[in-house]
Amino acid sequence: MQRFLIKETAKHIGEKVRVCGWVNTYRAHGKILFIDLRDISGVLQVVFVPSNKEAYELAQKLRTEWVVEIIGQIVKRPENMVNAKIDTGLIEMSVESLKVLSESETLPLSIEGDGYEINEEVRMKYRYLDLRRERLKNNLIMRHKVMKLVREFLDKEGFAEIETPILTKSTPEGARDYIVPSRQEPGKFYALPQSPQQYKQLLMTAGFEKYFQFAKCLRDEDPRGDRQPEFTQLDLEMSFVSQEDVMELIERLLILTIQNLFPNKKIQEIPFPRIDYKDAMAKYKTDRPDIRNDKNDKNILAFCWVVNFPFFEKTDEGGWTFTHNPFSAARPEFEDDLMNKKNIGDILTTQYDVVLNGFEIGGGSIRNHKPEALEKVFEIMGYGKEIIYDKFGHMMDAFKHGTPPHGGIAWGFDRVMTLLLGEPNIREVMAFPKTGDGRDLMMNAPSEVDKKQLKDLHINIVKETKK
Ligand code: ASP
Repeated sequence: MQRFLIKETAKHIGEKVRVCGWVNTYRAHGKILFIDLRDISGVLQVVFVPSNKEAYELAQKLRTEWVVEIIGQIVKRPENMVNAKIDTGLIEMSVESLKVLSESETLPLSIEGDGYEINEEVRMKYRYLDLRRERLKNNLIMRHKVMKLVREFLDKEGFAEIETPILTKSTPEGARDYIVPSRQEPGKFYALPQSPQQYKQLLMTAGFEKYFQFAKCLRDEDPRGDRQPEFTQLDLEMSFVSQEDVMELIERLLILTIQNLFPNKKIQEIPFPRIDYKDAMAKYKTDRPDIRNDKNDKNILAFCWVVNFPFFEKTDEGGWTFTHNPFSAARPEFEDDLMNKKNIGDILTTQYDVVLNGFEIGGGSIRNHKPEALEKVFEIMGYGKEIIYDKFGHMMDAFKHGTPPHGGIAWGFDRVMTLLLGEPNIREVMAFPKTGDGRDLMMNAPSEVDKKQLKDLHINIVKETKK
């Protein structure tokens, strides 16, 4: 017999159907037993009466969160039991047979309600139970819907989703790399990508013109604020475009996403206002200003662009480093200064950041596609020719073989979802997040590995003695 999803059962009054799911609640009214059965699609009231002896006796053993299969007839509820709040509130199931598929011990945490008050370490340890919570289920399903909309939109715009490697070489993106030892080449390491920046630019050299990817990015940063060691970017890159083209596309995509999937939200201003970095710093003292007119309204989305960032900033050691991305181009009026390494602190970059309610949700730039310009950036950062070619030889070579002008952007996808769903932190929109200090409490990672694995990797653990 075919299985029905609970949400479909309301259309089958009078019919016999088979449903499967979890015992959500269990209660007795006099001699009659009721359970609310839950599956991914909804909740159904199921009624056991003593006259069906076999099912009734088994039903008495049921406990919440047991997994069961039930065959029965869908009938209208008595009028005094109608629940207008749920799709299946007009109906119930009169049971013919019951089968227990799996039993459950008492859960170590409550999955009723939104769960914010429960100790987060417990929620993370039993994440597979925490995810049974309606709020988290909804968050992950909305995340899926946004991804789907984005994919369809970009596909129509002529983008191809292309995967790039996870085992790669270190990229200078401002954070520490996670590294992976090579078994075959003792003493050598891969790095996990901080972003697909170099690969996406090389895909432009390859001629794909429009690339995107929901990409996992890994950064070994010290615990600070609401960060995760691994997170998802919506990453994209386009050839033959101006800064305006990228910004226009992203603005259109964000508006479409909100109008289609978050109709209760109101975008404060369209087109998104643009603010110069120096004006933002003067007026708001931050480069991610919260420009909401009414900060109490939880449905207001105040987007803005921040542009005209300085390209370089001083390092603690007195040298120069990039503010955002070493692969960015200078704004055209500063190209000469870049090539002559003059007025370095005044050079502005083509970087554009998109900010929502005071959070940076994305950033990108038009890139240097000429090898001489990229080389100048690295020289300003104090790299000698040898290092430049050792670390970025592949980029320099690529740029000598017909690379189109290009630019792109990446959204912090978890952050976008957090803000759209009105959640307090990014862990609430991730299936299996880690703690602030990078631990996975459910899998118990990081963890020790056995001696044989270490030997294969030519690794010796030296225990530091505490001073
Ligand atoms: N790779 C950049 C980042 O991760 C985004 C970009 O410039 O496209 O911030």
